[in-house]
Amino acid sequence: MLGLMQDWPLLIHRVIDYAATQHAKREVVSRSVEGPIHRTDYASIRLRSLKLAQRLERDGIRFGDRVATLAWNTWRHLESWYGITGIGAIYHTVNPRLFEDQIVFIINHAADRILLLDLTFVPLVEKLASRLPTIERFVILTDAAHMPQTSLKNAVAYEDYINEADGDFRWASFDENTAAGMCYTSGTTGDPKGVLYSHRSNLLHAMMAVAPDYFCLSAMDRVMPVVPLFHANSWSLAFSAPMVGAALVMPGPKLDGASVHSLLEDEGVTMSAAVPTVWLGLLQFMQTSGKKLSTLKHVGIGGSACPRIITESFETQYGVRVTHAWGMTELSPLGSFCAIKPETAALEGKALYDLKQKQGYAPFSVEMKIADDSGRSLPRDGKTFGRLMVKGPSVSKGYYGIDAAILDEEGFFDTGDVATIDENGYMLITDRSKDVIKSGGEWISSIELENLAVGHPDVAEAAVIGIAHPKWDERPLLVIITKPDRALTKDEILAFMSGKIAKWWMPDDVVFVDEIPHTATGKILKTALREQFRDYRLPTA
Ligand code: AMP
Repeated sequence: MLGLMQDWPLLIHRVIDYAATQHAKREVVSRSVEGPIHRTDYASIRLRSLKLAQRLERDGIRFGDRVATLAWNTWRHLESWYGITGIGAIYHTVNPRLFEDQIVFIINHAADRILLLDLTFVPLVEKLASRLPTIERFVILTDAAHMPQTSLKNAVAYEDYINEADGDFRWASFDENTAAGMCYTSGTTGDPKGVLYSHRSNLLHAMMAVAPDYFCLSAMDRVMPVVPLFHANSWSLAFSAPMVGAALVMPGPKLDGASVHSLLEDEGVTMSAAVPTVWLGLLQFMQTSGKKLSTLKHVGIGGSACPRIITESFETQYGVRVTHAWGMTELSPLGSFCAIKPETAALEGKALYDLKQKQGYAPFSVEMKIADDSGRSLPRDGKTFGRLMVKGPSVSKGYYGIDAAILDEEGFFDTGDVATIDENGYMLITDRSKDVIKSGGEWISSIELENLAVGHPDVAEAAVIGIAHPKWDERPLLVIITKPDRALTKDEILAFMSGKIAKWWMPDDVVFVDEIPHTATGKILKTALREQFRDYRLPTA
């Protein structure tokens, strides 16, 4: 017997319809690419996304077609997601930090028909355009006054483009499992792979994310997604903020400490989310300028392990609650949050910050386990390392255009991360499976060593890789960038780390460098680092 409830498919445009009805005047503030601060609201965003939908349809964009965006977080980028998905087309966010060949690869692989791009990226796209045969038109996210001279095919200023439509348009109606968005993995090994979100997966994911123990959003919040819309779906915020009527503050292209700080303060931001590097920049800026935070209450941090120094500084010096989260493009992307449960509520001081180093527990809609190489579940004892496996309605079951099974027989997706899970369900990422250091048959967590090293006041960034060793198979090498004008020696950093980890985890050597290679989403590119130190001989070898 079926239930007697209405059939109300979970479609993305319902979010902006809702925000425009219940929270019509709630602000969407952006630092525009042109420079000035721009202010609008959900009612206007909805009208403009209807115009875009209408205009795209007039250009022949149909159900299932891909429309790419190469853009910073602004109101135009936000409304483009609603406009594109409102006709059953698919937004494809392209990460401008990818290598040029990867940008070409993913646009061709997705066969995008239109590219919406910010002024910033016009020179880059002009250079690549001859290699993008599927793109029929380039829409530049600006107005006529700022429109540059360009060789791009059928180029038009976005404001002119949408104003050719009047917005008297009805959203299309279709099944909630229809594809809505597309984001390619950053491709640290091999070609990037296309992850294809559905309307249903995006909405269930956003409904999960707003809950009090996770991003904890309400109509009283002013939310700043520093995390780009092109980085794994902006961690849900483009949907979850309007879904509860929270105001949005979009930082545009300026993500340095001073710019982030001024927007947080000027716009009264209460909640924000970004990768650790952004927060390091902000904290360093506040340290040197003596500036404080007067409205920010809560930050979500993820994308890579959040160094303890960030969590402690935010919470103890600035009174800002930190929620450490883990996720990946394939999970829409949120997979766990380090929130307090009654079992952990009594922790304080060092024990509390030990807990907050963990990536946390899975929310409802994410099933999580650790398994050995044969797929057998491993105990939740906080010690046993295993492959982190997940399952749920916002977890990928395949990659776009690749005909290969990616789930095990029980439907779990292997995240490629190695983790422990403790008796209270808190998960700790110890490594990417390819980065874990295998020493004498045991595993050493490169992430734990890196976190420890960046806790030294003279260290700006640290990376740890395994180097071949005749007796132990592999041993850790610590690679360090020191802060400007600081002198640090190998003995000093090793003395700082000593006693804080098992003796056999101590790096066998330390090298100081000027640069550490990064992926397009700001993670340390370990493959490149291993290549750089391929012939390195440890003093202990
Ligand atoms: P991406 O798909 O580019 O977002 O990368 C996902 C990967 O980033 C995960 O599989 C993890 O290896 C890493 N990652 C994300 N969040 C965290 C976190 N909080 N701590 C450690 N690693 C993380």
